Amino acid sequence: MENKYLNILREIKSVSMSTVSSDGMPQARIIDVMLVENQSLYFCTARGKDFYAELLENNMVAVVGMTKNYQMIRLSGKAKHLSEQKLWIDKIFKNNPIMNDVYPGEARYILEPFCINSGSIEYFDISSTPVYREYDSFGNMDSIMKGFEITGDCISCGICAENCPQHCIDSKSKYMIQQQHCLHCGLCYETCPVKAIKRRTKIC
Ligand code: SF4
Ligand code: SF4
Repeated sequence: MENKYLNILREIKSVSMSTVSSDGMPQARIIDVMLVENQSLYFCTARGKDFYAELLENNMVAVVGMTKNYQMIRLSGKAKHLSEQKLWIDKIFKNNPIMNDVYPGEARYILEPFCINSGSIEYFDISSTPVYREYDSFGNMDSIMKGFEITGDCISCGICAENCPQHCIDSKSKYMIQQQHCLHCGLCYETCPVKAIKRRTKIC
């Protein structure tokens, strides 16, 4: 089954991809998502680019894209250099014929194919009220949960719920954050008088 969020990134097509250069500086650029199949996202870059060298040195990448309707997809994952260069570049050009305008004829083979076949994904829809978010992962990576949670130290004073800009803190049986609607703004965390709210553990 295909990952629906990878398909949305393919529909957005031009997304930001970040790497880390050898001097530790973050580097971002716009790339085109060329293909999505087999739970993987495919892209390419030319051997002369710093981007290519960075990918070979450190394959961890971050991708972010947003639809016209303000639905954002963030992906953190691992890029893999594909060995069958000509096969993949030909496939990429077949699915993205506009590439022939930039790299006509045999020039296409200066490009090298990569795929991201494992990663964690965050989906965030800021167009809905309240906001809506989901987490997902593919390949051999786990979802990365962020935000805050209310612990057993809560004294039920209600201050966090009064201050929450998205009104996403339930108070039915106990105070609890509706994670799918949380902005991750931290206002509840800062205003809780007994420090009963903690950041969520990163990996789940
Ligand atoms: S502000 Fe803190 S103590 Fe008060 S209801 Fe919220 S979590 Fe509980
Ligand atoms: S982090 Fe912000 S949006 Fe989320 S529950 Fe706390 S106050 Fe509400």
